[in-house]
Amino acid sequence: MSKTHLGHTARKRFGQNFLFDEYVIDQIVTAIGPESKQNLVEIGPGLGALTEPVADIVDMLTVIELDRDLAKRLREHPFIQSKLNVIEQDALKFDFASLASDAPMRVFGNLPYNISTPLMFHLFSFSQHIEDMHFMLQLEVVKRLCASHNDSLYGKLSVMARYYCEATPVVMVPPSAFKPPPKVDSAVVRLVPHKQPPVDLHSVTSLEKVVGNAFNQRRKTIRNSLKNLIDEASLNALDIDAERRAQTLSLAEFALIANHVFETKG
Ligand code: SAM
Repeated sequence: MSKTHLGHTARKRFGQNFLFDEYVIDQIVTAIGPESKQNLVEIGPGLGALTEPVADIVDMLTVIELDRDLAKRLREHPFIQSKLNVIEQDALKFDFASLASDAPMRVFGNLPYNISTPLMFHLFSFSQHIEDMHFMLQLEVVKRLCASHNDSLYGKLSVMARYYCEATPVVMVPPSAFKPPPKVDSAVVRLVPHKQPPVDLHSVTSLEKVVGNAFNQRRKTIRNSLKNLIDEASLNALDIDAERRAQTLSLAEFALIANHVFETKG
Protein backbone atom coordinates (compact mmCIF):
# COMPACT_ATOMS: atom_id res chain seq x y z
CA MET A 1 0.00 0.00 0.00
CA SER A 2 1.38 3.41 -1.01
CA LYS A 3 2.46 5.74 1.78
CA THR A 4 1.54 8.73 -0.35
CA HIS A 5 -1.98 10.13 -0.08
CA LEU A 6 -3.20 13.36 -1.73
CA GLY A 7 0.38 14.20 -2.65
CA HIS A 8 1.72 13.85 0.91
CA THR A 9 4.02 11.03 2.00
CA ALA A 10 2.95 9.74 5.44
CA ARG A 11 5.54 10.35 8.17
CA LYS A 12 5.83 7.46 10.58
CA ARG A 13 7.36 9.56 13.35
CA PHE A 14 4.18 11.69 13.42
CA GLY A 15 1.94 8.59 13.54
CA GLN A 16 0.40 9.48 10.18
CA ASN A 17 -2.34 7.11 9.02
CA PHE A 18 -4.81 9.09 6.97
CA LEU A 19 -8.51 8.23 6.95
CA PHE A 20 -9.99 7.99 3.48
CA ASP A 21 -13.06 5.71 3.86
CA GLU A 22 -16.00 8.10 3.33
CA TYR A 23 -18.44 5.82 5.18
CA VAL A 24 -16.23 5.74 8.28
CA ILE A 25 -15.62 9.50 8.07
CA ASP A 26 -19.39 10.02 7.95
CA GLN A 27 -19.94 7.77 10.96
CA ILE A 28 -17.35 9.68 12.98
CA VAL A 29 -18.71 13.12 12.07
CA THR A 30 -22.23 11.90 12.95
CA ALA A 31 -20.94 10.59 16.31
CA ILE A 32 -19.33 14.00 17.02
CA GLY A 33 -22.49 15.85 15.95
CA PRO A 34 -20.93 19.32 15.51
CA GLU A 35 -23.16 22.43 15.53
CA SER A 36 -22.40 25.81 13.98
CA LYS A 37 -21.62 27.95 17.05
CA GLN A 38 -19.70 25.34 19.03
CA ASN A 39 -16.06 25.62 20.07
CA LEU A 40 -14.57 22.65 18.20
CA VAL A 41 -10.88 21.73 18.41
CA GLU A 42 -9.25 19.05 16.28
CA ILE A 43 -5.95 17.41 17.19
CA GLY A 44 -3.89 16.17 14.23
CA PRO A 45 -6.05 17.32 11.28
CA GLY A 46 -3.54 15.93 8.78
CA LEU A 47 -4.90 16.16 5.25
CA GLY A 48 -8.32 17.22 6.50
CA ALA A 49 -10.38 13.98 6.35
CA LEU A 50 -12.40 15.05 9.42
CA THR A 51 -11.55 18.75 9.23
CA GLU A 52 -13.37 19.37 5.95
CA PRO A 53 -16.78 17.88 6.87
CA VAL A 54 -16.69 19.47 10.35
CA ALA A 55 -15.63 22.88 8.95
CA ASP A 56 -18.56 22.67 6.53
CA ILE A 57 -20.89 22.69 9.55
CA VAL A 58 -19.24 25.01 12.10
CA ASP A 59 -18.45 28.74 11.92
CA MET A 60 -14.88 28.32 13.18
CA LEU A 61 -12.64 25.34 13.87
CA THR A 62 -9.31 25.29 15.71
CA VAL A 63 -6.84 22.65 14.55
CA ILE A 64 -3.56 21.69 16.23
CA GLU A 65 -1.03 20.10 13.87
CA LEU A 66 2.64 19.37 14.53
CA ASP A 67 3.70 18.64 10.94
CA ARG A 68 4.73 21.95 9.40
CA ASP A 69 3.88 20.90 5.83
CA LEU A 70 0.37 19.80 6.81
CA ALA A 71 -0.23 22.95 8.86
CA LYS A 72 0.78 25.02 5.82
CA ARG A 73 -1.57 23.03 3.54
CA LEU A 74 -4.45 23.74 5.93
CA ARG A 75 -3.63 27.46 6.12
CA GLU A 76 -3.82 27.48 2.33
CA HIS A 77 -6.84 25.17 2.01
CA PRO A 78 -8.85 26.37 -1.02
CA PHE A 79 -12.29 26.02 0.59
CA ILE A 80 -12.10 26.11 4.38
CA GLN A 81 -9.03 28.21 5.22
CA SER A 82 -11.19 31.17 6.36
CA LYS A 83 -12.86 28.95 8.96
CA LEU A 84 -9.66 27.46 10.36
CA ASN A 85 -7.54 28.65 13.24
CA VAL A 86 -4.39 26.62 12.54
CA ILE A 87 -2.07 26.14 15.51
CA GLU A 88 1.24 24.56 14.54
CA GLN A 89 2.25 22.93 17.83
CA ASP A 90 2.76 19.72 19.73
CA ALA A 91 -0.62 18.84 21.27
CA LEU A 92 1.24 17.13 24.15
CA LYS A 93 2.61 20.50 25.24
CA PHE A 94 -0.34 22.63 24.25
CA ASP A 95 -2.21 24.65 26.89
CA PHE A 96 -5.79 23.72 26.04
CA ALA A 97 -7.10 26.20 28.64
CA SER A 98 -5.99 28.93 26.23
CA LEU A 99 -8.86 27.90 23.92
CA ALA A 100 -11.52 27.96 26.63
CA SER A 101 -14.28 30.47 25.95
CA ASP A 102 -17.92 30.86 26.95
CA ALA A 103 -18.63 27.81 24.80
CA PRO A 104 -16.90 24.78 26.33
CA MET A 105 -14.49 22.97 24.06
CA ARG A 106 -15.44 19.91 22.06
CA VAL A 107 -12.18 18.14 21.15
CA PHE A 108 -11.81 15.45 18.50
CA GLY A 109 -9.22 13.78 16.31
CA ASN A 110 -7.80 10.72 14.70
CA LEU A 111 -4.83 10.68 17.02
CA PRO A 112 -1.24 9.67 16.37
CA TYR A 113 -1.20 6.28 18.13
CA ASN A 114 2.41 6.66 19.30
CA ILE A 115 1.42 9.46 21.71
CA SER A 116 -2.19 8.60 22.49
CA THR A 117 -1.80 7.53 26.14
CA PRO A 118 0.29 10.53 27.29
CA LEU A 119 -2.06 12.76 25.29
CA MET A 120 -5.07 11.33 27.17
CA PHE A 121 -3.41 12.16 30.51
CA HIS A 122 -2.54 15.66 29.24
CA LEU A 123 -6.15 16.26 28.16
CA PHE A 124 -7.62 14.92 31.42
CA SER A 125 -5.88 17.78 33.20
CA PHE A 126 -7.98 20.25 31.14
CA SER A 127 -11.26 18.36 31.56
CA GLN A 128 -12.96 21.23 33.41
CA HIS A 129 -12.80 23.24 30.14
CA ILE A 130 -14.02 20.39 27.92
CA GLU A 131 -17.59 19.38 27.11
CA ASP A 132 -16.66 16.17 25.32
CA MET A 133 -13.96 14.42 23.28
CA HIS A 134 -14.14 11.98 20.37
CA PHE A 135 -10.91 10.21 19.49
CA MET A 136 -9.89 7.53 17.07
CA LEU A 137 -7.43 5.33 18.92
CA GLN A 138 -5.96 1.90 18.76
CA LEU A 139 -8.79 -0.46 19.77
CA GLU A 140 -6.76 -1.74 22.72
CA VAL A 141 -6.42 1.78 24.12
CA VAL A 142 -10.18 2.30 23.76
CA LYS A 143 -10.71 -0.93 25.70
CA ARG A 144 -8.30 0.27 28.40
CA LEU A 145 -10.14 3.60 28.65
CA CYS A 146 -13.48 1.82 29.08
CA ALA A 147 -12.30 -1.06 31.33
CA SER A 148 -13.77 -1.66 34.80
CA HIS A 149 -12.04 -3.33 37.72
CA ASN A 150 -11.50 -7.07 37.20
CA ASP A 151 -11.34 -6.57 33.38
CA SER A 152 -8.06 -7.87 31.94
CA LEU A 153 -7.11 -4.49 30.39
CA TYR A 154 -7.92 -2.49 33.57
CA GLY A 155 -4.94 -0.31 34.50
CA LYS A 156 -3.82 3.22 35.39
CA LEU A 157 -5.38 4.69 32.24
CA SER A 158 -8.75 3.05 33.09
CA VAL A 159 -8.79 4.35 36.67
CA MET A 160 -7.81 7.91 35.74
CA ALA A 161 -10.24 7.95 32.79
CA ARG A 162 -13.00 6.83 35.16
CA TYR A 163 -12.13 9.62 37.58
CA TYR A 164 -12.36 12.30 34.88
CA CYS A 165 -14.88 11.03 32.33
CA GLU A 166 -17.56 8.68 31.16
CA ALA A 167 -15.98 6.68 28.31
CA THR A 168 -17.99 4.85 25.61
CA PRO A 169 -16.79 3.20 22.37
CA VAL A 170 -18.82 4.58 19.47
CA VAL A 171 -17.37 3.43 16.11
CA MET A 172 -15.20 0.42 15.24
CA VAL A 173 -12.73 1.04 12.38
CA PRO A 174 -10.74 -1.56 10.41
CA PRO A 175 -7.16 -0.90 9.18
CA SER A 176 -8.47 -0.74 5.58
CA ALA A 177 -10.07 2.66 6.31
CA PHE A 178 -6.61 4.31 6.46
CA LYS A 179 -3.70 5.06 4.13
CA PRO A 180 -1.29 3.57 4.98
CA PRO A 181 -3.25 0.98 7.02
CA PRO A 182 -2.10 0.65 10.65
CA LYS A 183 -1.18 -2.83 11.94
CA VAL A 184 -3.97 -2.79 14.54
CA ASP A 185 -7.75 -2.34 14.72
CA SER A 186 -9.03 1.07 15.74
CA ALA A 187 -12.10 2.51 17.40
CA VAL A 188 -13.56 5.91 18.20
CA VAL A 189 -14.23 6.59 21.87
CA ARG A 190 -16.49 9.28 23.30
CA LEU A 191 -15.22 10.80 26.56
CA VAL A 192 -17.56 13.06 28.50
CA PRO A 193 -15.96 14.78 31.50
CA HIS A 194 -17.98 14.47 34.71
CA LYS A 195 -19.65 17.68 35.89
CA GLN A 196 -19.07 16.49 39.47
CA PRO A 197 -16.21 14.10 40.37
CA PRO A 198 -17.61 10.58 40.92
CA VAL A 199 -15.60 10.16 44.15
CA ASP A 200 -14.54 12.47 46.93
CA LEU A 201 -10.81 13.00 46.39
CA HIS A 202 -8.38 15.20 48.35
CA SER A 203 -5.62 15.16 45.71
CA VAL A 204 -5.38 13.88 42.14
CA THR A 205 -1.60 13.62 42.58
CA SER A 206 -2.11 11.15 45.45
CA LEU A 207 -4.51 9.09 43.34
CA GLU A 208 -1.99 9.00 40.47
CA LYS A 209 0.77 7.95 42.87
CA VAL A 210 -1.27 5.14 44.45
CA VAL A 211 -2.64 3.85 41.14
CA GLY A 212 0.81 4.10 39.49
CA ASN A 213 2.50 2.12 42.31
CA ALA A 214 -0.26 -0.49 42.39
CA PHE A 215 -0.17 -1.17 38.64
CA ASN A 216 3.62 -0.95 38.27
CA GLN A 217 3.68 -4.15 40.29
CA ARG A 218 0.30 -5.45 39.23
CA ARG A 219 1.04 -9.10 40.07
CA LYS A 220 1.87 -8.28 43.69
CA THR A 221 -0.69 -7.95 46.46
CA ILE A 222 -1.31 -4.33 47.46
CA ARG A 223 0.28 -5.13 50.83
CA ASN A 224 3.55 -5.28 48.85
CA SER A 225 3.00 -2.91 45.94
CA LEU A 226 1.74 -0.11 48.23
CA LYS A 227 3.94 -0.81 51.26
CA ASN A 228 5.78 2.50 50.96
CA LEU A 229 2.49 4.41 51.01
CA ILE A 230 0.10 2.59 53.37
CA ASP A 231 0.41 -0.23 55.93
CA GLU A 232 -1.78 -3.29 56.29
CA ALA A 233 -3.57 -2.04 59.42
CA SER A 234 -4.63 1.12 57.58
CA LEU A 235 -5.88 -0.93 54.61
CA ASN A 236 -7.91 -3.05 57.04
CA ALA A 237 -9.32 0.10 58.64
CA LEU A 238 -10.50 1.14 55.15
CA ASP A 239 -12.08 -2.32 54.79
CA ILE A 240 -9.74 -3.22 51.91
CA ASP A 241 -8.07 -6.66 52.03
CA ALA A 242 -4.25 -6.32 51.72
CA GLU A 243 -4.17 -9.63 49.82
CA ARG A 244 -5.92 -8.08 46.82
CA ARG A 245 -4.20 -7.02 43.58
CA ALA A 246 -4.52 -3.69 41.76
CA GLN A 247 -6.75 -5.21 39.07
CA THR A 248 -9.56 -5.82 41.59
CA LEU A 249 -9.74 -2.34 43.13
CA SER A 250 -12.49 0.04 42.05
CA LEU A 251 -11.97 3.78 41.61
CA ALA A 252 -13.80 4.33 44.93
CA GLU A 253 -11.35 2.03 46.73
CA PHE A 254 -8.32 3.65 45.10
CA ALA A 255 -9.73 7.03 46.20
CA LEU A 256 -10.04 5.83 49.83
CA ILE A 257 -6.40 4.74 49.80
CA ALA A 258 -5.27 7.96 48.06
CA ASN A 259 -7.09 10.11 50.65
CA HIS A 260 -5.42 8.19 53.48
CA VAL A 261 -2.00 8.62 51.81
CA PHE A 262 -2.67 12.35 51.35
CA GLU A 263 -3.66 12.73 55.03
CA THR A 264 -0.66 10.77 56.37
CA LYS A 265 2.11 11.60 53.90
CA GLY A 266 0.88 14.72 52.13
N1 SAM B 1 -6.91 13.55 10.99
C1 SAM B 1 -6.18 13.00 9.86
C2 SAM B 1 -6.96 11.84 9.29
O1 SAM B 1 -7.85 11.35 9.98
O2 SAM B 1 -6.67 11.43 8.17
C3 SAM B 1 -4.77 12.59 10.25
C4 SAM B 1 -4.64 11.58 11.35
S1 SAM B 1 -3.00 10.96 11.63
C5 SAM B 1 -3.39 9.45 12.45
C6 SAM B 1 -2.40 11.91 13.02
C7 SAM B 1 -2.15 13.37 12.75
O3 SAM B 1 -1.62 13.97 13.94
C8 SAM B 1 -1.13 13.66 11.67
O4 SAM B 1 -1.59 14.71 10.87
C9 SAM B 1 0.13 14.08 12.43
O5 SAM B 1 1.00 14.93 11.71
C10 SAM B 1 -0.47 14.77 13.63
N2 SAM B 1 0.39 14.78 14.84
C11 SAM B 1 1.33 13.86 15.19
N3 SAM B 1 1.87 14.16 16.39
C12 SAM B 1 1.25 15.30 16.79
C13 SAM B 1 1.38 16.12 17.95
N4 SAM B 1 2.24 15.81 18.93
N5 SAM B 1 0.60 17.23 18.05
C14 SAM B 1 -0.29 17.54 17.05
N6 SAM B 1 -0.44 16.80 15.94
C15 SAM B 1 0.31 15.70 15.80
